[in-house]
Amino acid sequence: MDPNPPVSTTTPELGLFRERFTAVLDSLDEGVLVLNSHGAILDVNARAVEVLGVLPGPSQDWWSRLAPTGEDGRALPAPPWQAAPGSDRLLRNLTVEASVVDGTRRCFIVNTLNVSGSALQPEGTVLAFRDVTDHRATQQRLDHVSLHDGLTGLPNRTLLLDRIEHALERAVRHRRSVAVILVDLDHFKVLNDSLGFEAGDEVLLETASRLSAVMRPGDTLARVGADEFVAVLEDVSSTEEGIAAAHRLLGAFTGSFRAGGGEQRVTASAGVAVAEPASEAVLAAHTMLRDADAAMHRAKALGRRRCEVFDDEVRRRAVLRQQVDAALRSAIERDELRLAYQPVVDLATGRMVGAEALLRWPTAPDALGPAEFVPIAEESGMINPIGSWVLREACTTAMTWHGNRTESALHIGVNVSARQLNAPWFPDLVAQVLTETGIPPHQLMLELTESALIGGRVAIDVLHRLKDLGVRLALDDFGVGYSAMGYLHELPLDYLKLDQSFVAKLDRPDGSRQTAVVAAAINLASALDMTVIAEGVEREGQADRLRGLGCTLAQGFHFAKPLSVTQLAGVLSTQELTRVS
Ligand code: C2E
Ligand code: MG
Ligand code: MG
Repeated sequence: MDPNPPVSTTTPELGLFRERFTAVLDSLDEGVLVLNSHGAILDVNARAVEVLGVLPGPSQDWWSRLAPTGEDGRALPAPPWQAAPGSDRLLRNLTVEASVVDGTRRCFIVNTLNVSGSALQPEGTVLAFRDVTDHRATQQRLDHVSLHDGLTGLPNRTLLLDRIEHALERAVRHRRSVAVILVDLDHFKVLNDSLGFEAGDEVLLETASRLSAVMRPGDTLARVGADEFVAVLEDVSSTEEGIAAAHRLLGAFTGSFRAGGGEQRVTASAGVAVAEPASEAVLAAHTMLRDADAAMHRAKALGRRRCEVFDDEVRRRAVLRQQVDAALRSAIERDELRLAYQPVVDLATGRMVGAEALLRWPTAPDALGPAEFVPIAEESGMINPIGSWVLREACTTAMTWHGNRTESALHIGVNVSARQLNAPWFPDLVAQVLTETGIPPHQLMLELTESALIGGRVAIDVLHRLKDLGVRLALDDFGVGYSAMGYLHELPLDYLKLDQSFVAKLDRPDGSRQTAVVAAAINLASALDMTVIAEGVEREGQADRLRGLGCTLAQGFHFAKPLSVTQLAGVLSTQELTRVS
């Protein structure tokens, strides 16, 4: 017998086999084509016909009709059946884009296998493809979501760090600098709390579009925190160029923003970090970001609405901030904070009419005063527990003074930060402290700074709720930085505390301009039914001038420095302020 009898193409077994073979191929989700060594199609499964619209036949032009390209859009170097003669598997997981039967372009993963044998005479290729278009699109969307900010669509921190890293690599090659500029909105939390999240989002979107508009093409703008945006500038020649760019970004805040159905004034502070190509240390991306952040905090501390560059001084301050933050936390736990009380006097009689409670931290690092550590506590949120303690302690102490005075009760001034004022529970806290301590409401004076009230960001109804409790409200540090004149009449305030910078030159030969400003402020206050308290009176000459201008109350080293509880008790029993000043 012939050991290899010729295979009949018509035996019932073979017919059955072929049927099974076709059924299996057609059941696949993958498209399969069997090609001869010239690329002619010998066989296709149903999926291949459905997707590519190809049929068996001698022609090879089915391949070029698909206009196949690689992932990068470039034409493939060779048809798959020619790709690597001699190897078993020609293509492994090759990504191919091709035009399909409905005219759209789809994305496929293609695998081919070289086979030899009489059926393929003498050899040929089995090509299998899988449509991954939808999967890819989902993947790309996920990638985008994980690397971009949902609100503004800008790159997020992860993508930003990647961009900075690449910028730094290129900068080293081209011996250029990279600037990272962190822009942080001023008082954004206050705006968000008072106008609501939707208005906050409107401001953020507007900020993103304004900042993008002043960026150079090719540079990156990212959003890394609620109100923090970061610009990465490549190809910068000097630190000055980085600073100029920061000013351009801050300039984008000119003109009011539409948010919450009204117009809002928005300002920002910026920190700049520049990586010089010549610098020995190769900076890491996160270091640059941290440096820009430290510089931005310095800009905030210096009054906001400005830009600062990272340098040694900023580095020193950043370290200090961290130390203060940690030390302040333990000072609260260990009950180490104290209050000093500075008398407020009637300029006409010299008698004490009240006192301002001023926070003291005897164990503070570097003997820091409240002007330095209160802003740090404001930023970390620690001002809330501290402020609540100050309020309670000051009212409790003030109640002990009443035993010493019969004619009229003394008021107690308590400083309140913007952060406290915007906490929804603040009026309830005040009400609770009034009840607990029994202090008559009109004797409590809450001192609010202009910056807390700026642009009407503190909801006026909070001020009215406080007024309804019967407490007095004072505008502290009047005249520093912002002009409150425009909206003063809208606020239910009782006192205006004139900042010491206005009082400083009153008795000096070159003080005529200041005298004019103080006179105007006193007139304004009296027109609005407010009482003026002059701060920082250090000399009798200043007190004299103030009396002449019709100012009734004052506070300052000339009358008394901030005193301990015991010192103050002494003053109250004798009414001798000068003895302890
Ligand atoms: P402030 O509320 O304007 O307090 C007046 C500041 O001027 C006090 O500084 C006081 O010691 C100082 N001062 C008083 N008389 C004179 C004077 O004749 N000449 C000069 N050069 N200065 C005088 P202090 O105690 O260092 O407080 C600084 C700021 O820290 C306060 O300014 C206030 O804004 C803030 N602060 C103090 N205690 C608290 C607090 O309990 N809570 C909050 N949120 N802020 C506080
Ligand atoms: Mg004050
Ligand atoms: Mg003040």
